[in-house]
Amino acid sequence: MILTLLGTGCPKVDHKRFGPSNLISTLNTKILVDCGSGVTQRLEQLKVSTADIDALFLTHLHSDHVIDFYQLIISSWHSYRTKPWKIFGPIGTKKFVKRIMKAWEDERNLRIKYEQRSSTRAFNIKVTEFSDYGKIKIKDLRIEFFSVDHKPVKYAYGFNFYNKNKKLTISGDTRPCENLMKFAQKSDLLLHEVFIEGEIKSINKMRTKKTLHNVKLYHTPSTIVGKVAKISRCKKLVLTHFVPTSFNEKNLINVVKKDYGKEPIIGRDLLKIVI
Ligand SMILES: [Zn+2]
Ligand SMILES: [Zn+2]
Repeated sequence: MILTLLGTGCPKVDHKRFGPSNLISTLNTKILVDCGSGVTQRLEQLKVSTADIDALFLTHLHSDHVIDFYQLIISSWHSYRTKPWKIFGPIGTKKFVKRIMKAWEDERNLRIKYEQRSSTRAFNIKVTEFSDYGKIKIKDLRIEFFSVDHKPVKYAYGFNFYNKNKKLTISGDTRPCENLMKFAQKSDLLLHEVFIEGEIKSINKMRTKKTLHNVKLYHTPSTIVGKVAKISRCKKLVLTHFVPTSFNEKNLINVVKKDYGKEPIIGRDLLKIVI
């Protein structure tokens, strides 16, 4: 199984770190986790066609994770996708998909009629919403979804991907979370989000101390993520979803290493890891 980081950023625009998105692939299967800003451009860089994606899994419905949803769908139509889309996400995903598709309905119908492409199956979207916990099989990948804690976001998920006795854990957006540590046990690779302490300063009236405090509160601080990895006993820790997107990498590695006992890998867009 291969994990490719497509976007390692957050809501802040950064041309080096696109919005959150990951590709999990085997020889037969391609699954996207989230569709943040720039996802289709990154797939194009990898020469992966949006027509060939087997399923899209959404961790939660924060805009940075789903902002390019329609771009993904329309791009797959332009790429002659001949199969319907399978989307798995939290409660609210059905409503979200319906509304986005509705917003573009007139434009889409005009295009379909005028451009006369061979298939409109890309617009056939089947959404399955998650319960608290469950398992899904997509070809040769087994996926386990479990709740994480990203309050006030009510429904947020982490995932385990299994293939050939290997396990990949994706944290999604979460504050330090016991359920994540439970499900990440002995994972071959834990891909975890991080809020980097001391890298964002408050700006009078714009980015107040309260704002900073609240942002930090629903993410996992750099002073804690190493402990999470240690308790999870994961073999490898890869960091992503950097808040902020630019920071002192050496400092971050040192802080996390102190708790984890090993050096974490600092994720970057298009980094590919074989698991
Ligand atoms: Zn996010
Ligand atoms: Zn979020």
